[in-house]
Amino acid sequence: MTTLKPRTTAADVDARAAKIRLVLFDVDGVLTDGRVQMHADGTESKTFFIRDGIAMVWAQRMGIRVGFLSARLAPTTPHRAAQLGVTLVYHGVSSKLATYETILREQGFTDDQVAYMGDDVVDLAVLERVGLATCPADSVVEVLERAHWISRHGAGAGAGRELIEVILRAQHRWDDVLASYLNEPRESEQPTR
Ligand SMILES: [Mg+2]
Repeated sequence: MTTLKPRTTAADVDARAAKIRLVLFDVDGVLTDGRVQMHADGTESKTFFIRDGIAMVWAQRMGIRVGFLSARLAPTTPHRAAQLGVTLVYHGVSSKLATYETILREQGFTDDQVAYMGDDVVDLAVLERVGLATCPADSVVEVLERAHWISRHGAGAGAGRELIEVILRAQHRWDDVLASYLNEPRESEQPTR
């Protein structure tokens, strides 16, 4: 864990988070802990965190787009995206910045409407552009120094979940998420068809 302080204030993070319409995640070292298990048959496996995933579903339900932006081509990435209804999936890209600019152009977003979470120096160019630059707690120091906001959680262990919660709270939508569970009708009260 780091003792570095983010370069901005909580109020500034809140103001930046309120504008976000698209949340982009690096995959390895952000949604996973960065480890890849290589199997003898050439296949690979890695571990995603369920609490990150459900938060992506909530964000999309609230009208916020979610995307994956990974330099590494991996068969697991589109599978995980499909499970979560994430349709903006870019992996195996040679330039994250060029791909980021393509996403903005094609999807009609501006820098200040985008949050990005990355963990390594390959993410710096995109982190320097977006309205809300974020990273897991165990990111490399060059990223930690430049992030507007650093999650308390490490890679693959809830950093993505915390970011989406920060954004939904700033947009006054977090209570809607909670209410959808607290006010869930009992099965006996469900309307019959
Ligand atoms: Mg990474």
